[in-house]
Amino acid sequence: MNASTPARPPLSQASHWPAPTLHAREGALWLEDVALADIASRFGTPTYVYSRAALEAAFNAWQQALAGRRALVCYAVKANSNLGILSVFARLGAGFDIVSGGELARVLAAGGRADQVVFSGVGKSRAEMRQALEAGIRCFNVESAAELERLDAVAGEAGRKAPIALRVNPDVDPKTHPYISTGLKGNKFGVAFADALALYRRAAALPNLRITGIACHIGSQLLDPAPMAEAAQKVLGLVDRLAAEGIALEHIDLGGGLGIRYRDETPPAVADYLAPLLQVFTGRHEELCFEPGRSLVGNAGLLLTRVEYLKPGETKNFAIVDAAMNDLARPALYDAWHDVVAVTPHDGEEQVYEVVGPICESGDFLAHGRSLKVCEGDLLAILSAGAYGMTMSSNYNTRPRAAEVIVDRDQIHPVRERETVAELFASEHTLP
Ligand SMILES: *Cc1c(COP(=O)(O)O)cnc(C)c1O
Repeated sequence: MNASTPARPPLSQASHWPAPTLHAREGALWLEDVALADIASRFGTPTYVYSRAALEAAFNAWQQALAGRRALVCYAVKANSNLGILSVFARLGAGFDIVSGGELARVLAAGGRADQVVFSGVGKSRAEMRQALEAGIRCFNVESAAELERLDAVAGEAGRKAPIALRVNPDVDPKTHPYISTGLKGNKFGVAFADALALYRRAAALPNLRITGIACHIGSQLLDPAPMAEAAQKVLGLVDRLAAEGIALEHIDLGGGLGIRYRDETPPAVADYLAPLLQVFTGRHEELCFEPGRSLVGNAGLLLTRVEYLKPGETKNFAIVDAAMNDLARPALYDAWHDVVAVTPHDGEEQVYEVVGPICESGDFLAHGRSLKVCEGDLLAILSAGAYGMTMSSNYNTRPRAAEVIVDRDQIHPVRERETVAELFASEHTLP
């Protein structure tokens, strides 16, 4: 197997794992003041488990890094849209970055403020535009000329003025910054930098739009602050040219993208990530907006699963668990690494396992070549699963989706019931 796979840290080093509130106690894994084994016995497996303290710490790190600035942190809902998670952030005063009418409905149901919602996405439908106008969102981040025209028309019909920012594509050099994937020429997001000026002029001429800002989002899992600062610099140049034409902007939205540690990455602290960027904005009056997703929830969550079978093979040993690619798609989709740790480690022989699910696809794996001491029936925690885990889950193989709980000190809040098989086809019909 992968010869470079590092040995799993012993439990005494649990604090070095990425999840900040995960630790060893009495020879087992705990999240805050709850034993993961207790969650499994009360709620079954697979179950997504989040730490409220970790969610709050992640959000507060952003707030502290921006203290003294006019700034709004808009949590990117697509990273994890559970109402419980949204309610935690809403209570902390977060704004929200949404990409659909469904996400807007979730934000409002969780107590989020419409006037702190920004709406991103390349394919907003007329119905979604109407819904967002009626709710009174803070800003539409418009991604094309056609969307600008459509939004003006929909706003006119609704008798409203739509607040807009153009999402521009700063085309930051990909070679020096290989993690950037959405801020380049030739992808579907945003409008080309060269076209932005003309589009702003057009927006200014449309009767039902109100230009309020500018937006960009250059990519995800960024580990280096430099490209963000570079993008910010480019955006500011455009802001000043617009001002010279009498188009004054109130806010500058710099998107999300700050990376987290999954394996051995060393992402900067939020304050260090923002420092070069904030430098660029010294003395500016515009309000800043950020749209972090992964960095707020990724390491606040894990996926708790139980080993169904151990299956020794000629070349590989398999640990077949009750979670699968339908629960956590990132390994199958991106070959992503998630740490896998035993919840109640015991003596025995360490073996190298393929950690796989029950789905009938060879791509159904959660981890390759991990050294684990496990027996049938043991619990495993798949770490760093709080972002793009549950939100990308599916019902493939007619598998009901996992339960979700939020741990808050010694309390366990169930925030999503486990789906039932009956629910899966309740809205389907047979033919006569
Ligand atoms: C996905 C996305 C985000 C969040 O990205 P993260 O990498 O999770 O921080 C923010 N803004 C936009 C427009 C997005 O598409």
